[in-house]
Amino acid sequence: MSELGRHHAPTRWALAGLLAGSGCQPLPEIEHETEHLRLGTDFDAPVCAGTLAMLDRAVGRIAASLDPDGSDEPFVVYWLEDELPDYCDDDATGCFYPGTRIAFAQGDSIAHELVHATIDSPGHAYFVEEGMAELYGGTPVRHDPRDLRGELLTQLALSRRDYDHGRLSYDQAAHFAHWVRETEGDGAMLRLAAALSGEDGETEILDQLEGIFDMTPWGIEQTYVREAPRLFPGLYDARLPTQRLEEGSLWLSVSLDCNDDEVLGPLRGAEEGMARLLRLEVPRPRTTRLLMEGDPGTWVELVAPYAPGQRPYPPWWPAFDQEGRMTRLEPGHRVSVMLEAGTYLLVFGASRVGAADIDLQVLR
Ligand SMILES: [Zn+2]
Repeated sequence: MSELGRHHAPTRWALAGLLAGSGCQPLPEIEHETEHLRLGTDFDAPVCAGTLAMLDRAVGRIAASLDPDGSDEPFVVYWLEDELPDYCDDDATGCFYPGTRIAFAQGDSIAHELVHATIDSPGHAYFVEEGMAELYGGTPVRHDPRDLRGELLTQLALSRRDYDHGRLSYDQAAHFAHWVRETEGDGAMLRLAAALSGEDGETEILDQLEGIFDMTPWGIEQTYVREAPRLFPGLYDARLPTQRLEEGSLWLSVSLDCNDDEVLGPLRGAEEGMARLLRLEVPRPRTTRLLMEGDPGTWVELVAPYAPGQRPYPPWWPAFDQEGRMTRLEPGHRVSVMLEAGTYLLVFGASRVGAADIDLQVLR
């Protein structure tokens, strides 16, 4: 996916105008309700309990971080894989309608879109707002902070025209937002979110940044370029169950059931299926043999979500690219893999819903 294609130009049409427009299909029915969310979809594959719980937690966190005094009325989200162009710009992966708590998005953009809907800004401070949408949407990012040298003020003042012409780097914006939060905390992000909501967002943002860091914009840029690490994991990545792979062997038995709170689904592109994730920390390089057994239609993937030289992706979303996939096993397979020290992800999946069991041996 190209960087430009990943997200939306923030569409701010009036909902009434949209619904009055010709050619619109009726909106999908609301099929799922959680504490923070009412969800309708345009596909047939079941939405598993873990995905509903994950989206609900994401909305709760976004609201608590960016709009703690706001309404606790649920957001209405239409998760659309095919019909999105009927409601958003053609190249968008999501959009929302100001003041309505209604958003439309592809699956992996829902959390990003809900950040916009929560901030609900008039929307011209693209660098900060898109960065915050990526950050609180849970997307990990790898970026070279030196790219921002001499550019911070330009980026903060990015015009609508420049934004529309693709002059915003989402990675750069996300990386800067991650760094501000890591350095100054959620309180700083709340101040920025409040500034975005004002009519005079760009000027307000600059004032707030200077106040938060007690530095000039030049000083902020210098500090960022000097101190920011290249990789920031996603905000919610640490929540995954984790297993350390020491010198010995691991025997893992995993049950998949779409009604289980830890089981995600559907798969990428709303394909029917389900998956459960385990983060694997490997403290020292080692060679490992993997042996898999399982019910028909099951598989295991070993993924390196933060490997250098590729775009990191949110490991809580079962939308796995070929990139980063080290191996895929089906029942009866055995393979040897060389693991560098680092963080890996084991994805236990099935290309259908209904109960399924998988056994994986991770041997020395
Ligand atoms: Zn966005």
